[in-house]
Amino acid sequence: MSEQTVCGKCQGTGWLLEDAGGSQVAKRCVCFGQRWKQSLMEQANIPRRYQTCRLDNFEVHNDSHRDALKICRKFVSNFPVQDVGLAFIGPCGVGKTHLAVAVIQELMRTKDAVCYFYDFRDLIREIQSTFTPDSTLSESDILAPVFQSEILVLDELGAKRTTAWVEETIFYIINHRYNHKKLTLFTTNYLDTEDEEDKRDSFYKKGDESLISRIGVRLRSRIYEMCKVVQMDGDDYRKMAKQASYRF
Ligand SMILES: [Zn+2]
Repeated sequence: MSEQTVCGKCQGTGWLLEDAGGSQVAKRCVCFGQRWKQSLMEQANIPRRYQTCRLDNFEVHNDSHRDALKICRKFVSNFPVQDVGLAFIGPCGVGKTHLAVAVIQELMRTKDAVCYFYDFRDLIREIQSTFTPDSTLSESDILAPVFQSEILVLDELGAKRTTAWVEETIFYIINHRYNHKKLTLFTTNYLDTEDEEDKRDSFYKKGDESLISRIGVRLRSRIYEMCKVVQMDGDDYRKMAKQASYRF
């Protein structure tokens, strides 16, 4: 529904008056719920290229996809009772972001949940941009939806080299959500191993691409505490689909 369309039933007030035994009772018009859902979708900050991502149009290519989809459906149906989020871990193009976005779309649509999407790099960049003297936004403007949303998607965690400042900031955000029992969905390309001691050693190895090398030990263990890990693998389907669409 566009903003210009005024509901013919309630003339845009969102209320309907109904007769109830001589007196009138105000009842919510159906357009009120539709407008609410619409505004949830609009404020969720989902990039245009992901806006059509749904659980129903997720392509299952292997067992890890099948399992991941099942976990996502369960997550949606359990909401808001569960107390852990999801961490989608796997290589590029296997559909991690598709699923994370599909989950929040479904939660907005069926549960009226307040959701928010942030690309990890954008979040860091936008917080940093508030430090410049001519910035019109403050750090708390950026962080308000990040803290307040019932579900936050933090996409491509670790897709930026960690500095002490980045690590501290992200830990502060994640920890704030954890302490307030808010669920977070992460996606990350950086593969992980079970053995923390090994990874701590390889932290100093050149060219290491583990999650720990990207976000640090403390943040990784907090994420494991607050999320169910959804391991995904397969080929880069996004690239394959794109290539297949180029006709020569
Ligand atoms: Zn109405």
